[in-house]
Amino acid sequence: MAQIFFVICGPSGAGKTTLLTRVRKRFPDLVYVPSYTSRPPRSPQELTSGRYRFISREEFERRIRRNEFLEYAIYAEHYYGTPRSEVYTLLAAGHDVIKEAEVQGVRQLRRRRLPGRLVAIFILPPSLEELEHRLDRRGTESVVARRRRLAAVLDELSALDLFDYMVINRRVTESVTRLCAIIRAERSL
Ligand code: 5GP
Repeated sequence: MAQIFFVICGPSGAGKTTLLTRVRKRFPDLVYVPSYTSRPPRSPQELTSGRYRFISREEFERRIRRNEFLEYAIYAEHYYGTPRSEVYTLLAAGHDVIKEAEVQGVRQLRRRRLPGRLVAIFILPPSLEELEHRLDRRGTESVVARRRRLAAVLDELSALDLFDYMVINRRVTESVTRLCAIIRAERSL
């Protein structure tokens, strides 16, 4: 039974973070790998949440030159990337891994030879209007940044064939149930 690398993708504001947090509680043995990013933390809580490792742009570029990323992308003018050796080591040691990435990252991962099976899941907001509302409610981005993020969504929607599953996030509890069913089914193969 090969190890599985679950990658969760979806527009910013689709509800990925909430879903991931809940799903991780249901599968304590699934190892969450935080991404590196050059984006500044949105809040002091985010800094300590364990979702990201925040580094400077210079440090990120240094790591790119050292080939330390399994994939990386620029999203809304910031770098985001997956640490290569950490994911390899975990999969090779028999752990299933879960992490998030945007579409360009998933495209790169599809081309990599991994010591495990890649299962990519796309989380969709119920509608673009709803997504806009969620970003407005979150209120963490400027108007320009919000517009940039919405533009990125349209790009992401054109790449749905990269994914094994799609979950439309209408209600959190329902989406968590779906995600857990996907994980359980994939692990039983
Ligand atoms: P945010 O700034 O909203 O936290 O994240 C922006 C986008 O970057 C989201 O779609 C998020 O899933 C994605 N992202 C987070 N970590 C990674 C990563 O390691 N690699 C890639 N390619 N995208 C990531």
